Amino acid sequence: MSYDPSNIFAKILRGEIPNHKVYEDETALVMMDIFPQSRGHTLVIPKAPSRNLLDADPEVFSALMPLVQRVAIAAKAATKADGIRLAQFNEAPAGQTVFHLHFHIIPMYEGQTLAAHAGGKADEDELAALAKAIAAELNR
Ligand code: AMP
Repeated sequence: MSYDPSNIFAKILRGEIPNHKVYEDETALVMMDIFPQSRGHTLVIPKAPSRNLLDADPEVFSALMPLVQRVAIAAKAATKADGIRLAQFNEAPAGQTVFHLHFHIIPMYEGQTLAAHAGGKADEDELAALAKAIAAELNR
């Protein structure tokens, strides 16, 4: 299947839909997931269009993975999580719901189970505060 530019992340990247931004540069956008699986669930989205990992230009990953690591470290520090889960889904049977490549950074807390994937919407004020806290850690 080919890339469909009407997906929601493409709309966000074009500025057509608002987001709780953590960080942006010429290659990627980092934002809060609005249906978080845990407190501080963050998404790293490359700007280059691809459905997922399977059709992406390999060059994309050389800039993206250091950013994924930086965001994981910043999210762990900002949320005081006990660990970080990195997730990435390719095509619907694998759990993908938005068909623009992205990495999930999911803070994990000792003794807490994860909420459902793409489940309930988070409080806007809490998302804004988390975006600010993770951004502050990224800029340290
Ligand atoms: P995936 O299932 O890997 O395609 O993940 C898509 C993710 O995007 C899910 O975790 C959703 O909660 C999240 N999501 C969907 N719409 C939005 C949105 N408008 N802003 C932020 N995150 C979103």
